[in-house]
Amino acid sequence: MKTYKIACIPGDGIGKEVIPAGQEVLQALAAGGSDFRFEFTSFGWGGDWYRAHGKMMPDDGLEAIRGMDAILFGSAGDPHIPDHITLWGLRLKICQGFDQYANVRPTRILPGIDAPLKRCGPRDLDWVIVRENSEGEYAGVGGRAHQGHPIEVATDVSILTRAGVERIMRFAFRLAQSRPRKQLTVVTKSNAQRHGMVMWDEVAVAVSKEFPDVRWDKELVDACTARMVNRPASLDTLVATNLHADILSDLAAALAGSLGIAPTGNIDPERRYPSMFEPIHGSAFDIMGKGLANPVGTFWSCVMLLEHLGEPQAAARLMAAIEEITADPKLHTGDLGGQARTADVTAAVISRLNNR
Ligand code: ATP
Ligand code: MG
Repeated sequence: MKTYKIACIPGDGIGKEVIPAGQEVLQALAAGGSDFRFEFTSFGWGGDWYRAHGKMMPDDGLEAIRGMDAILFGSAGDPHIPDHITLWGLRLKICQGFDQYANVRPTRILPGIDAPLKRCGPRDLDWVIVRENSEGEYAGVGGRAHQGHPIEVATDVSILTRAGVERIMRFAFRLAQSRPRKQLTVVTKSNAQRHGMVMWDEVAVAVSKEFPDVRWDKELVDACTARMVNRPASLDTLVATNLHADILSDLAAALAGSLGIAPTGNIDPERRYPSMFEPIHGSAFDIMGKGLANPVGTFWSCVMLLEHLGEPQAAARLMAAIEEITADPKLHTGDLGGQARTADVTAAVISRLNNR
């Protein structure tokens, strides 16, 4: 019997509710006739840890989770702690420390979800957005001079390295190749960003030669937003820089339905370190502690975690259970206009799993 070691980091706000729900669901999946089991270790890092210790996680925190098979992460954010501390002190520290350079966000309209895209006409979508997660516009390079003076200057330098672009392109082409349509859209802005994005385009052409069976095209990021709304079925896998994909993936989540549903994975494709899976929503302090959080984003993240561990059958079983419960409006939480509670949704998924 295989044992997967999973680090659970609930973090802040509703992360503390949805991550335990995710653990319950994974546990039920393993108990139901699988040939693997999970060993969970929880880490109480985040805003509470910061108040007690002056930092979001201990200095040797990465060492503590380095040997894990995967990380299940809730959310980092606290209205009483500045964003740059909560963001850089935990989540990004893990992403950078473990070189999780590919951020992967699948987007689909699940059954029963009143997705805004559907209101634009008869449309559907099935996308995976690959976000470059280690450099680009969020490299943190830049500065300010002459603050407050009319001659003040401020710069944010986007850093793209050929090696960094090659590895994310290769990852995206490989992912596109693994999907039925074998189709990739390389999102660019080389008409205006005339250095880094030109290299980005060049690398796309070079890497595409390694994947002759993948159909690919290039789209400007601005045109891509319109295409996502007007011709969503013309897109399948997309790859974009850190900033561009940040924006496109929020649009994708909004078009497909609620913030409470969507999952993401921060992947180290070389598997040198554990990868991290998390719902895309934040800490949502307005509803925390009330049992109202939608756990579906976490459950879907667990599907991605299972796929990453090489358990596609278990992943498919869980995804099917998730789709059965989203199809039932009685099991919709408040973000979907329903009355269900976190515990109701969790129990319903577990009972579907037990009946399969
Ligand atoms: P952060 O600052 O960490 O991003 P946030 O409070 O801005 O956290 P978001 O995740 O950005 O929270 O969500 C915005 C709002 O959407 C929340 O205030 C909440 O009302 C709602 N929401 C988000 N996630 C969920 C969820 N899983 N279930 C129900 N409602 C949610
Ligand atoms: Mg937010």
